[in-house]
Amino acid sequence: MSIANNIKAIKATLPENVTLAAVSKTKPVSDLMQAYETGQRIFGENKIQEMADKWEQMPKDIQWHMIGHVQTNKVKYMAPFVALIHGVDSLKLLQEINKQAAKNNRVIDCLLQMHIAEEETKFGLDQEELAAIFNSVELQEMKNIKIVGLMGMATFTDNKDQIKKEFMLLKSIFDKAAEQKVPNCDLTIISMGMSGDYPLAIECGSTMVRVGSSIFGGRN
Ligand SMILES: *Cc1c(COP(=O)(O)O)cnc(C)c1O
Repeated sequence: MSIANNIKAIKATLPENVTLAAVSKTKPVSDLMQAYETGQRIFGENKIQEMADKWEQMPKDIQWHMIGHVQTNKVKYMAPFVALIHGVDSLKLLQEINKQAAKNNRVIDCLLQMHIAEEETKFGLDQEELAAIFNSVELQEMKNIKIVGLMGMATFTDNKDQIKKEFMLLKSIFDKAAEQKVPNCDLTIISMGMSGDYPLAIECGSTMVRVGSSIFGGRN
C-alpha cells in the first residue's frame, strides 16, 4: 500500500466529527508530501527542530500539531506557527506558551494532557491537577492561549479492556470538564487513539486521532 492509499483507507473509516492528525515524525518531507497531495493538512510531530524544518520546507496551509512532550525552553521555536499543542501538562508550560504566543501576536490552541494510563512512565495531569489549573487565577490572565480539549495516551498493552477503560476515563473527565465555565477554555477536542487503537478510541468518544505508522509505515 502507498501512503496515499493508506490515508484514503483510514479517512474512509472515520466518522465525520473525527479529525485525523497524520503523525509524520522521523519521516522525510517527500513522504509527507504524498499525504499532502491527498488533501491531508494536519501533521503531528514530536520534536520541535524537526517540525520547524518541515514547516519551513512545506506548503504554508499545513497545520502543525506538536504531539510530544514540550520543554518550556523550546516553546519559542514553535510559537510563530504551531496550530495545536497536544501535550500541555502544567500551568508553567501554559504560561510560557501564553508569553510566546503574545510575542507573536497569536492565540495558540492547547490540549491538556491527562494521565489515563496505568503505567507510571506516561506524562499527564491527574484530575486534581486539572482542577487546579482550571481554578487558577493565572489562567484568567492568559489571553494568548485557548484550551480547546484534552489529550491522553492509553497503556501500551494488547489488553483491549484495559485500553477501553482508560479511553472511557478520558471521555468522562472531558464530559465533566466541558460543562464547567472556565476562562480561556472551550473544550471541543478529545485527542486519543493511535495506529493500534484508534477505532476503539473513536468508539469511546475520540474526536481526534493521531495516526503514524498505519499511514507512513514503521519507524526505526
Ligand atoms: C508517535 C505517536 C503517535 C503515533 O503512533 P503510531 O502508533 O505510529 O500511530 C501518536 N501519538 C503520540 C503522542 C506519538 O508520540
